[in-house]
Amino acid sequence: MNWRLDGKVAVVTGGSRGIGRAITEALAGAGARVAILVRDAARGQAAAAEIGQGTRAYQADVALPEQVDAAVAAVERDLGPIDILVNNAGLTRDNVLVRLGEPEWNAVLGTNLSGAFHAMRAVTRGMMKRRGGRIINVTSVVGLVGNKGQANYAASKAGLVGLTKAVAKELASRNVLVNAVAPGYVATDMTAALSPEARETLAAAIPLGRLGTPADVAPVVLFLASEGAAYITGQVFVVDGGMVM
Ligand code: NAP
Repeated sequence: MNWRLDGKVAVVTGGSRGIGRAITEALAGAGARVAILVRDAARGQAAAAEIGQGTRAYQADVALPEQVDAAVAAVERDLGPIDILVNNAGLTRDNVLVRLGEPEWNAVLGTNLSGAFHAMRAVTRGMMKRRGGRIINVTSVVGLVGNKGQANYAASKAGLVGLTKAVAKELASRNVLVNAVAPGYVATDMTAALSPEARETLAAAIPLGRLGTPADVAPVVLFLASEGAAYITGQVFVVDGGMVM
């Protein structure tokens, strides 16, 4: 099977750290020229230099449509038409519902859900014209089954599943395939605050007996971006060590 992405241009939002970085490394390793979109420009430039293989960083807060449009235009100017978009940028602002403020709600929905909408809208016109493209949205098992203290995050990730399926139906006739990957618990900065006890409790609830790593998630995204996934759209691929089944 052909996993190579030579000649393809990919955009990965939040590609500087964690899961997004592993995805960027996988796509670049398969021959794609990858642009990462990040809020923190200095961290983005440093990550792009470390990843190498032509990876470039562009500053954009995905919650802000004008920044996303400007970054996508700059990527197309520098690298050419975008073939692959991975909406990975995400954040958490956890609290129980009764203490969940508007800023925490808006920040999480703004980045995790609206951010994906902004990036998808910015790239799809070109993909439709060229009759081809891949969009992969990084959702979460929390969007499928919920989680205490994460109403905002769960809503954003469930919203991303609906967005994935709606746009998959809309764009299928133009050969633009839209899928989602739903990781379980993955060891990154996002989950770094978990205590060792919480980690052990979590691991005990995961059939494969451990938290995931970014490298567990990246190959699934690479597959969905590759020729082998040409007949798959509108699906959610759970990568969670069997936690949700
Ligand atoms: P992470 O280590 O905290 O990295 C988050 C990345 O997103 C960073 O590169 C960050 O860029 C970027 N980002 C955040 N807000 C952004 C914004 N508004 N605009 C542009 N970039 C932004 O997180 P992670 O654990 O790798 O998570 C990556 C994705 O996987 C997220 O969507 C997350 O919800 C999802 N996920 C994670 C887990 C998990 O257990 N870790 C599980 C399921 C799903 P800066 O460096 O500029 O801040």
